[in-house]
Amino acid sequence: MNLHEYQGKEMLSSFGVRIQRGIVAQNAEEAVAAAKKLTEDTGTGWHVIKAQVHAGGRGKGGGVKLAKNLQEVERIAGEIIGMDLVTPQTSAEGKRVHQVLVAEDVYYPGDSEPEEYYMSVLLNRATGRNMIMYSTEGGMDIETVAEETPHLIFTEEIDPSVGIMPFQARKIAFNLGLSGLAFKEMTKFVTSLYTAYDKSDSSLFEINPVLKTSDDKIMAVDAKVTIDENALYRHKDYEALRDLREENPIEVEAKEVGLNYVDLDGNVGCMVNGAGLAMATMDLIKQAGGEPANFLDVGGTADAARVETAFELILRDPNVKAILINIFGGIVRCDRVAQGVIDAYKNMGNIEVPIIVRLQGTNADIAKELIDNSGLAVMSATEFQEAADKVHQVLS
Ligand code: GDP
Ligand code: MN
Repeated sequence: MNLHEYQGKEMLSSFGVRIQRGIVAQNAEEAVAAAKKLTEDTGTGWHVIKAQVHAGGRGKGGGVKLAKNLQEVERIAGEIIGMDLVTPQTSAEGKRVHQVLVAEDVYYPGDSEPEEYYMSVLLNRATGRNMIMYSTEGGMDIETVAEETPHLIFTEEIDPSVGIMPFQARKIAFNLGLSGLAFKEMTKFVTSLYTAYDKSDSSLFEINPVLKTSDDKIMAVDAKVTIDENALYRHKDYEALRDLREENPIEVEAKEVGLNYVDLDGNVGCMVNGAGLAMATMDLIKQAGGEPANFLDVGGTADAARVETAFELILRDPNVKAILINIFGGIVRCDRVAQGVIDAYKNMGNIEVPIIVRLQGTNADIAKELIDNSGLAVMSATEFQEAADKVHQVLS
């Protein structure tokens, strides 16, 4: 689950990580009130207005702007709220901005080269350890840094059962070229950041940029936080941070009815029982010359109602040109699934895309007969290759 920048910063701050302070606002009026409050609290005269959407690269897309007085706060907030922000990380249509973060300006006026660093915390799946990745090249795409100057990216692995050791925090501050107060500040920053990652059960933190202020404080200016959904039961309060407006509507609906659906860009919808078979089916679609339009695991109980719901979800994607149903009847009987497919097909009445059904396992032969005798435009298959050939056939 991804958080908005303002939510991520609040969470980090609750673990003692120094952040650029800010207040979220839903409209221009609230933005002005937020700016006034920040001036009272921090003495700042200038403010940055930052679009709150689940996408990075907002600065490049015009979603981060500096306001030098309250009139500018009002105007810029008014412009950004309601816009469809296009960034290198969004689709061409962009993302609708519903709110902005009004933040204190923490950059030194006239400083054309502020000291910005990059820092992320994530899991290294290969070693089973957490990892802090950091660089002196903050404020730009880490992908670009990795490509052009890979020697400027450092990593520090942390044993999760031990936690971050003081020498590791010092090594990071040293590699970033810091000394004096900034060095000490960085060790504190890194240590609290790692603690926050660990205690919040996050799967990714990306702080870009981390800023060294003119008075040698180290703070998070941006925050991308992804929380591990599997650990949400331990953090009931984080569940309220979910912003469904930022999520794919089909995925949200699928989750509500207990279907495991992930939207993809392709043209062949698929409905499968079991995640492993679903992955194999996506490979099958690719080999047949198609591209999967989704991942969909209907789980063990593929009855007519579930199949119908799954159909509806798949068909809501306008890119779907064919549907492949691939069910292994282990506990669930194939004839039951076949009947479910037929019933759903008849009930919906408006399915125009070709459907290929592969049923294998218990009562597969009865299932094939049911499909073949249904009189519907549904093709049956029992073998993997046969299903692939039929997908290829309907696409060409
Ligand atoms: P992103 O573009 O989505 O990654 O959003 P960021 O939060 O990283 O902001 C983009 C850029 O805005 C940063 O790299 C900074 O250069 C700039 N920025 C952020 N906060 C301030 C600020 O307080 N003052 C000034 N002058 N620039 C800022
Ligand atoms: Mn950023």
